[in-house]
Amino acid sequence: MKNKNTAAWSAAKSEEHYGFKRWGHGHFEVDDEGFVEVRPVPDGTEIRIMDVVDEARDMGLRAPMVVRFQDLLRHRVERLNKVFRQAIKDEGYKGEYRGVFPIKVNQLREVVDEILAAGKDYHHGLEAGSKPELMIALAMHDNNQRLIICNGYKDHDYIRLALMGRKIGKRVIIVVEQLSEVDHIIEISRELGVRPLIGFRVKLQTRGEGKWSSSSGDNAKFGLNTAELLFAIEKLKAAKLTQALRLIHFHIGSQVPNILTIKNAVVEATRFYCQLSQMGFPMGYLDIGGGLGIDYDGSRTNFESSMNYSLEEYARDVVANIRDICDHSGVRVPDIISESGRAVVAPHSMLVVEVFERINKKETLRKQHRPKEKHKVVTDLEAQLKNKSRLGRLERFHDALQKKEEALSLFNLGYLDIENRAAAEALYWQICEQIDREGNESGYQPEELHDLKKILADQYVCNFSVFQSLLDHWALQQLFPIAPLHRLDEEPTVNATLADITCDSDGKISSFIDLQDTKDYLRLHALDGRPYYLGIFLTGAYQDIMGDLHNLFGRVNEVHVFLEPDEPNGFYIEEALSGSRVSDVIEGVQYQWEELCRRMKAQIDAATRKDLVKPREGVRLLEFYENQMLNKTYLSIESAAKKRKRT
Ligand SMILES: *Cc1c(COP(=O)(O)O)cnc(C)c1O
Repeated sequence: MKNKNTAAWSAAKSEEHYGFKRWGHGHFEVDDEGFVEVRPVPDGTEIRIMDVVDEARDMGLRAPMVVRFQDLLRHRVERLNKVFRQAIKDEGYKGEYRGVFPIKVNQLREVVDEILAAGKDYHHGLEAGSKPELMIALAMHDNNQRLIICNGYKDHDYIRLALMGRKIGKRVIIVVEQLSEVDHIIEISRELGVRPLIGFRVKLQTRGEGKWSSSSGDNAKFGLNTAELLFAIEKLKAAKLTQALRLIHFHIGSQVPNILTIKNAVVEATRFYCQLSQMGFPMGYLDIGGGLGIDYDGSRTNFESSMNYSLEEYARDVVANIRDICDHSGVRVPDIISESGRAVVAPHSMLVVEVFERINKKETLRKQHRPKEKHKVVTDLEAQLKNKSRLGRLERFHDALQKKEEALSLFNLGYLDIENRAAAEALYWQICEQIDREGNESGYQPEELHDLKKILADQYVCNFSVFQSLLDHWALQQLFPIAPLHRLDEEPTVNATLADITCDSDGKISSFIDLQDTKDYLRLHALDGRPYYLGIFLTGAYQDIMGDLHNLFGRVNEVHVFLEPDEPNGFYIEEALSGSRVSDVIEGVQYQWEELCRRMKAQIDAATRKDLVKPREGVRLLEFYENQMLNKTYLSIESAAKKRKRT
């Protein structure tokens, strides 16, 4: 270790503290100098994430910023396919694995492109759940070995598009979610003169666990129940389309934390498959949907932000269960399709945010204003702080709480002046801090004292919007691993929650990963005036690019990083996407920026006529307003150090 004077702490301790090895899927670690490194390809070179941040800054892009590691994405696609191929080999399975990527999990062109390129040799295909997604899939799909699976509610145009794909030779399978879709498929395929490939999505009784468990069971939105399945079969027979039925599909929800759920669902679906096969339908594919999880907290449990199985176990269980049931029924095993989205894309991207402010209850209060005449409530609190009578911690906490409330009532009734109120608040926080410090040695803590840590934690304000960049945390309480990207050779000493810059009290992160349950705060480094960057990891699935326009902050900057051994830092940035400008987000909500500028000009002109501003000043005001239109939406932070240097 380099840092000898903080011998008690080390980069290795940070690596353990933030759990990099537990949730990092082998891709993230801390080097001896306290920087987070990413290793996109196992056994390959590692990159310091701060080098990427610095290089992006030189290109004019600053945090908040999404960083994508394209090689890591490629690796995930290859790994999924290799692990399934291995399981098929090990289990002596006589069918193949065909993955498809569900576009909804990350629609970004560069992501879909990379997945298709990485999955070329494995014939990895695409899954669409809507018309726009199908339009992407049809155009991006290049090789007729790859599948296109069409899920979701379908209107005539959706079906027509899918059949157009059939007509030009693509393997497009339309998965029936609603009985009425069967009639439309029959009708439109006749009209176009194409032979459709059809799958049925079945409503399984097997219920998932976790946040998305309502995707299956009787009340699920999608799929055919058993009676509907039989009606659908009748319709196909009547239309002489029995040869079209090729696939059984299920999807029990995303992020399934428990492998038992997956096993049960596979068994139930394979029974359906075998029955249909025995009825004489050609079949050939069993589609097990998504659900393959990501261990966000690294606990390897069936907690909802974790998973109690590995990819290898998942693949083996799927393959072995399908084989056993098919063997038992005397049915030829199907090719296995999975629609894994989250597991493929979540690890490849991360969000970098800059902390620029600390909100702290205690420090400002300590430099207290002395009241001219101390009120009794203040002297009582002073006595409690000294704790001469050696009361227990819980009792002292209750006493202090009572006095603080008394002080507030007195203030509201007009009996306490503002100096005394300030003194009472300051003393209250000092007592809380003292009680908390004394508790650090004892193991068990009553809940109220345990919560003290949460109450006492600072808020670190970060330049980003939860609603844009961490939508799943806000909407679904999804946890993501969060850690500083540098200074990890120093001991973190401040308990903090994170706040964003939106004007909304929901714009915060106050729940963090932990091995047991969740943590209410994160331990971070004291701010020292230099830029301090945090990484929010495993953010590549679902919410990656779908944030909303809360407070009109819009998209963040983005860089796409590729490994390159010839470069000094081991990588290059191929694509740098600039985040939203004010004019972009304003036009997104139907204003025209020219029109806004025109209105401002009219008002400034009027103010000039009334002599509220001088003409020259008016011109400058308008220029400033117009220039802001082309500025980025997030804060442009100047660190204290830089400001000093400039003046
Ligand atoms: C969302 C979805 C998926 C992707 O699920 P993951 O858990 O992200 O792998 C797959 N199939 C269907 C039908 C979906 O709706």
